[in-house]
Amino acid sequence: MNDNFRDIFVETSCVSQQELLDYLQGRLSDADRHRVEMHVADCPFCSDALEGLSAIPEKEKIPAVIRQMKWKVLQNLRRKNRRKRSKEFYTSLAVTTLIILFIVLACFFAYHFMVRR
Ligand SMILES: [Zn+2]
Repeated sequence: MNDNFRDIFVETSCVSQQELLDYLQGRLSDADRHRVEMHVADCPFCSDALEGLSAIPEKEKIPAVIRQMKWKVLQNLRRKNRRKRSKEFYTSLAVTTLIILFIVLACFFAYHFMVRR
């Protein structure tokens, strides 16, 4: 990795969501605003984020909108986890059933052969 490449990474340390919000609402100092503008010009992620945030007409509702989006993501994650967990549950249930069945069969045969002798 050459030095130029590393420089790019240093320059693109991303702007936080709060900073983007403050920028849109004009709450940043001149220096911070300049920094955000410079970064957004270089960074496709942050320029997308800024574009998305500025598309929301009522800026005071943005935190609620973001919370809602995060909530949806969390919900999707939880649903995925639940599905995974129930799969694990059925697998262990099947294994347990097989073990019990095997023990019952072993007892049956042991008993059967003991009675015969
Ligand atoms: Zn960025």
